[in-house]
Amino acid sequence: MKKEKVDVLVIGAGPAGTVAASIIHQAGYTVKIVEKQKFPRFVIGESLLPRCMEALTEAKFVDALEKRGYQKKFGAKFVKGEDICDFTFENQYTDGWKWTWQVPRADFDTTLANAVQEMGVPVEFETSVTAIKFNGSDSVTTVEDIDGNQKEIEARFIVDGSGYGRVIPKLFNLEKESVLQPRKALFAHTVDLKRNMDAEPNRITAVVHKKGTWIWIIPFSTGITSLGFVSDPTFFEGFEGNNEEKYRAMLESEPYTRERFRDVELVFEPRILEAWSATTDKFYGEGFVLTGNVTEFLDPIFSSGVTLATVSSQTAAKLVIKKLRGEAVDWEKEYMEPTMQGVNVFRSYVMAWYEGVLDTIFFRKNPDENIKQQICSVLAGYVWDTSNPFVAAHDTAPRRLARTIVATDKIKSFE
Ligand code: FAD
Repeated sequence: MKKEKVDVLVIGAGPAGTVAASIIHQAGYTVKIVEKQKFPRFVIGESLLPRCMEALTEAKFVDALEKRGYQKKFGAKFVKGEDICDFTFENQYTDGWKWTWQVPRADFDTTLANAVQEMGVPVEFETSVTAIKFNGSDSVTTVEDIDGNQKEIEARFIVDGSGYGRVIPKLFNLEKESVLQPRKALFAHTVDLKRNMDAEPNRITAVVHKKGTWIWIIPFSTGITSLGFVSDPTFFEGFEGNNEEKYRAMLESEPYTRERFRDVELVFEPRILEAWSATTDKFYGEGFVLTGNVTEFLDPIFSSGVTLATVSSQTAAKLVIKKLRGEAVDWEKEYMEPTMQGVNVFRSYVMAWYEGVLDTIFFRKNPDENIKQQICSVLAGYVWDTSNPFVAAHDTAPRRLARTIVATDKIKSFE
């Protein structure tokens, strides 16, 4: 069988894989990416958060992305009936990026993959990992291309950025169930001719359709808007017909989407994704690190996926470099703990969202501006800034605030 040798093998050419590959390559090591699919390929995850711009900058991807002319995103708007809560990243507690992008991922991921190849990192598309053997931290990975040709890649370290493929957790039985309830999404790309061009495109909108059911609206610079419904699986059973009939009936049932999306042209037949939350016990092992979605994917509500993917890769890449230089790495302290910090903060907010805690805070008539700025930083992805009380006490602060609002404003409790 054909054999190759690299310092680092990266599995997957999504944002996690390409960010890690670029940073490790910049440190002078030989890196190769193997990617199962042919690009451009569809993947969901189109709304980014300002914090991921730091990882994209370190990976030297921002110039290539700028050239694509993606829709800039300056905030996030939450809507419930007549109530609107608009967050603008300019008005946030943490001193960080004030904007990011809304991206069609097929184009975004292709841009990242092209950029990393131009730097000198080869990407082998349509090539899947089928087996890995570790010998200490060295490894031999068997890969197979679409014609069935196999080869072995020897590496000093592996970064697994295989997203929903979850290559290492599946090969080594590291899979663990998420504590989050399984949810489902029905979504499509729409030709959004009735968009309000002044107010609409420069932020995403999350519409509360009813408790536990919400809609994402993510406008792209191309005039296409991504729109999806998320709920527990039973909600979708309340609509008849095929995916497109259900989708159109759902758009019709929500006052916020009814006029704008009636008879809208769809770019593709509405698709379903479900039961996406997954995790593993440990995000590292001798000779490998898991980054991006392979670590843990929570829920789409706060657009945390690509940010957690790129930030975990940014952190992991620096530790891989340290390890290759022969320096000691405390993976638990230096990788697992910071990665879990990000995951845990977002998990608290995801749970608070579905419990109705955040509705109470977001849709308060006269919100406290300081608190709004602190929460805005969480929504911008600055979930490692523990000087922010809404990060430090992520598991208690939102609920405590919501209870105070219920008591002082004498409104219906979420509990
Ligand atoms: P991916 O982007 O999935 O890339 C992994 C790559 O690995 C793929 O290209 C795959 O082909 C490749 N691969 C898999 N198996 C193998 C193998 N055996 N060998 C070689 N290659 C392999 N995130 C956001 O930030 N914003 C959003 O608005 C958002 N919305 C979402 C909506 C829904 C309904 C869902 C389910 C998720 C959403 N996400 C969102 C999450 C987002 O999809 C992911 O977090 C993000 O794509 C993770 O990036 P990644 O690089 O880890 O993985």
